[in-house]
Amino acid sequence: MGPPIRPVIIAHRGASGYLPEHTLPAKALAYTMGADYLEQDVVATRDDELVVLHDIHLDRVTDVATQFAGRSRVDGRYYVRDFSLSEIRQLEVHERTNADGTPVYPDRFKRNDEVFHVHTFTEELAFIAELQANEGRAVGIYPEIKRPAWHRDEGVDVTPLFLDVLREFGYESHGDPVYIQCFDDQELVRIRDIYNCEMKLIQLVGQNEWGEANTDYDRLCTTEGLKQLAERVDGIGPWINHLYRQHPGGRIEDSGLVANAHAQGLAVHPFTFRKDDLPPGFESFAELLRFAVDELSVDGLFTDFPDLAKNSK
Ligand code: CA
Repeated sequence: MGPPIRPVIIAHRGASGYLPEHTLPAKALAYTMGADYLEQDVVATRDDELVVLHDIHLDRVTDVATQFAGRSRVDGRYYVRDFSLSEIRQLEVHERTNADGTPVYPDRFKRNDEVFHVHTFTEELAFIAELQANEGRAVGIYPEIKRPAWHRDEGVDVTPLFLDVLREFGYESHGDPVYIQCFDDQELVRIRDIYNCEMKLIQLVGQNEWGEANTDYDRLCTTEGLKQLAERVDGIGPWINHLYRQHPGGRIEDSGLVANAHAQGLAVHPFTFRKDDLPPGFESFAELLRFAVDELSVDGLFTDFPDLAKNSK
């Protein structure tokens, strides 16, 4: 018998359970903790530079509203697309907050005398290359193109810029340690068929009402939808809540999505495993991991806590 098969650990926005999301220290920590993949979310600035941020907005993770008061749009939000890279470099990054300024995860990193900054996609890939060269452990990357259709409406096509950066760092073949992820199914078609991208692709599966993309996730999750997906992508990244149904009494039942995806040859990498934010119906992080890993046999998982083994007992 070989070693037990375990899912690949994708450090969601870095070790974001411990340090502010998407900062280089959060990525370094995730690397040290043994993550198999480090995630990047990619958004474009006013001057078409690609930066690593989860949102198309700056206001939930930086002090933009203080430094650039008055630069919000009519909805009150501060958009990455409205700021140049040099302006964005001046911002200080903090733990994610709600609209009212309170922390989303009150028990996470609390110090406010440390200074964290936003960096570019290129800088992050250079940083990861350096970590691997010095430490000698290989790690994969897991970049996401955020809101490609929205960016095109804003006058920038992120996909070719994104693929150029990957190529510059030697990522281009199917066997390279990279998964490209997107919520927009049409963008993944474009990446595969128009840009002839050979790298592994992951279709993220959210809820239609999130408005992440003009994609019908209910249809994608049907047998026919999964079969069509399997013609172009290597796997799906479903929202964790899609993996199960909860009965009125509280009992958790497998939704069948993982098995259906596996039947089409698709890998399944659900998001997001957080020990401080469990999905409904689970009493502990260990119970959640047992369900996803032991019962459903997911192939990978996105987690804010890449030191998973420590938390799975
Ligand atoms: Ca992401």
